[in-house]
Amino acid sequence: MNFVIANPTGLCFGVRRAIEYLEIALHENKSVYAMGNPIHNPQEVERLSRLGLKVASSVAEIPGGAAAFIRAHGLSRGKHAELREKCRMVIDGTCPFVRNVQKKAAELGREGYEVVVLGDSGHPEVKGILGHIDGEALVVKSEKYINLRGRRAKIGILSQTTQREADLAALASKLVFLTEELRVYNTICRATVKRQEAIKKLAESVDAVVVIGGRNSANTGALVEISRSSGLDAKWIEHAGELDEGWLRDKVKIGVAAGGSTPDWLVNDLTAKLLKL
Ligand code: SF4
Repeated sequence: MNFVIANPTGLCFGVRRAIEYLEIALHENKSVYAMGNPIHNPQEVERLSRLGLKVASSVAEIPGGAAAFIRAHGLSRGKHAELREKCRMVIDGTCPFVRNVQKKAAELGREGYEVVVLGDSGHPEVKGILGHIDGEALVVKSEKYINLRGRRAKIGILSQTTQREADLAALASKLVFLTEELRVYNTICRATVKRQEAIKKLAESVDAVVVIGGRNSANTGALVEISRSSGLDAKWIEHAGELDEGWLRDKVKIGVAAGGSTPDWLVNDLTAKLLKL
């Protein structure tokens, strides 16, 4: 089968780094307790579970003296401290880009800015960021949700790493008229943007796309959406076994893309299968 792989695609730097840390910890410990799923990919979580990964949804679920792991999304200062208190060791897989947002958030809070975070309030990365701010902070999905009464002295804006730059610009444009002083940190990570640009480029030269990644992965879903909105037939699969050979029959050249949380071994399985067809 004639195919071309989007570039860049697959694991981003932060998730790759966190999983490497986790693998080393699993090699050295019989079991490691992660605070939340370490990656939005069920096959990879299953593989890591066979090596001794346990997924906990709260610090209370982690037994005292255990080895704990913090995923790339990071954690609030309070929960981090609880883990250090309770566990024998804490492996910190927080992505350095996320840690940068946490530091900027703490700095804004310390310097008396009212902090506005562009993001999804239920997302673990955002919860972690909020947990680094002393005082109140507001989380908004877009500038449309801003409804401040009265003019403010100082407002500081930052963003969840996976937000759109256009939304950050719109938020800053609105808030600049509601405060005496505005400080804006562009904390958006380019990894997601670059993967989306790569699939748009790929769509120009293929007649269909296979996107591989967990069905619980929002960024994988975004790649599928982008392919379809470019007018392409796009299939979303979690692993090579789900690829329907009948669907490929009338295709001349297909594109392959992977979500930012799809491990290399799943992409390699898929390309090995395509090479045999
Ligand atoms: S998307 Fe960016 S910020 Fe998020 S884990 Fe990956 S590299 Fe880090």
